[in-house]
Amino acid sequence: MTESVRHFDVLVVGAGPAGLNAAAAAASHGVRVGLIDAQPRPGGQVWRHDVAAPQPSPAVGVLATISQHGVEWIAQAQVVQAGPECLLAETAQGTLRLHYRALVLATGARELLLPFPGWTLPGVTGAGGAQALVKQGWPMIGKRAVVAGSGPLLLAAALTLKRHGAQVLGIHEQASSAAVRGFALRLPRWPGKAAQALGMKLQLAGIPYRGGSVVVAAHGDARLREVEIDGPRGRERIACDHLAVGYGLVPNTELAESLGCRLELAGAHPAVAVDAELRTSVEHVFAAGEALGIGGRDCAQVEGAIAGHLAAGHSGPARAVQRKRRHARAFAGLLARSFVLDPRIRSLADADTVVCRCEDVTLRQLQGFASARDARLATRCGMGACQGRICGAALAELDPACVESPGAGRRPPLFPARLATLAESFSNHSQGATP
Ligand SMILES: Cc1cc2nc3c(=O)[nH]c(=O)nc-3n(C[C@H](O)[C@H](O)[C@H](O)COP(=O)(O)OP(=O)(O)OC[C@H]3O[C@@H](n4cnc5c(N)ncnc54)[C@H](O)[C@@H]3O)c2cc1C
Repeated sequence: MTESVRHFDVLVVGAGPAGLNAAAAAASHGVRVGLIDAQPRPGGQVWRHDVAAPQPSPAVGVLATISQHGVEWIAQAQVVQAGPECLLAETAQGTLRLHYRALVLATGARELLLPFPGWTLPGVTGAGGAQALVKQGWPMIGKRAVVAGSGPLLLAAALTLKRHGAQVLGIHEQASSAAVRGFALRLPRWPGKAAQALGMKLQLAGIPYRGGSVVVAAHGDARLREVEIDGPRGRERIACDHLAVGYGLVPNTELAESLGCRLELAGAHPAVAVDAELRTSVEHVFAAGEALGIGGRDCAQVEGAIAGHLAAGHSGPARAVQRKRRHARAFAGLLARSFVLDPRIRSLADADTVVCRCEDVTLRQLQGFASARDARLATRCGMGACQGRICGAALAELDPACVESPGAGRRPPLFPARLATLAESFSNHSQGATP
């Protein structure tokens, strides 16, 4: 295992639309920029490499700018610990110490998965999760798939599954048809989004789209056989091979939290708090994109550019796109208002439903605790491989007592890490070095 040290004027964590635009904007001022991501290729969630499709054109443009300006791309490196002006990242070869003068956090979001009976059966994944799998070559040809949950991501997921050969049987949106209609009527304020939505609807023509329709259970033995839906037409069972179900997104705030950045609650989940110039509460640390709250790709792009310019010390070009940012962020408000979670979804899990699948903890075992911390200490819920990224968010939705107050503190490592990495970080701590 090797250890290497790098120094940057601006370091960007996350190579999705926000991070790519931040790196391009910062590098356009001639400063030394590093861009790090846990994934092998840049693109983040929305521009994730698809084995069966070319790179989307907005991604091609920003990637060209980045390479032209000599941004150092650090792939397959996961930031596991933060310290003052230095991050520790783990790669297949060893560890990296990344020093920076300014940092941009563009860590994006993950899916909100909510438990219901059968949700851990093989054949059930998140909606975005299914999309990510098929883009990376997971076979879907001829498989009967049901897409369910909430938000515009369902259309994108259904379309990706269809393009990869799945037979999409239906899209089941938990928000009411009236709420979805209201969303569609307001969409023309964002012409790009309206065109994108229309394009997807046309390509999905013939696939039923039902509002007010909730997956209440997945049935099967060793794998999924049927999903049970509760909708305006009553209960129905649909035989299928795959269920892709997700209830929107939750910001990834762990790195910001461990740096000491102030977070604020948006509903049951924290987001990174920033001022109008996307400065966090920690000096020289900026944040952009879905880590600030769920606003979509356009919002992530413009915020990335603002944060990148400011991190490089140039406020002029950042000011020029502030109006664009406010417009893009207004879309986040529309999303949140239109796809409010139906309360019945929070009561689908029964006492035997597993909530923490890493540590095999059921809802029964989680009942009666005064806080998420108490539940964690007594049951190990959230202490497994995902470090509470899935079950922590689910528990916060299921039990208001388990909504964690932002800033409660997060201990390293941010992700499971090799013993050698831990030894590395701790040995340096004891010598007083960072992190
Ligand atoms: C599974 C999924 C699928 C989605 N599919 C679509 C879609 O098809 N269409 C659409 O419009 N929107 C989609 N979205 C929404 C999408 O996330 C945003 O619109 C957009 O990608 C947000 O850009 P971002 O740059 O803020 O974050 P992201 O694109 O999420 O990028 C964040 C990046 O940060 C990296 N990262 C995070 N923490 C660390 C760390 N500690 N160390 C190293 N790297 C780190 C991640 O690997 C990731 O690549 C999807 C979201 C998810 C979660």
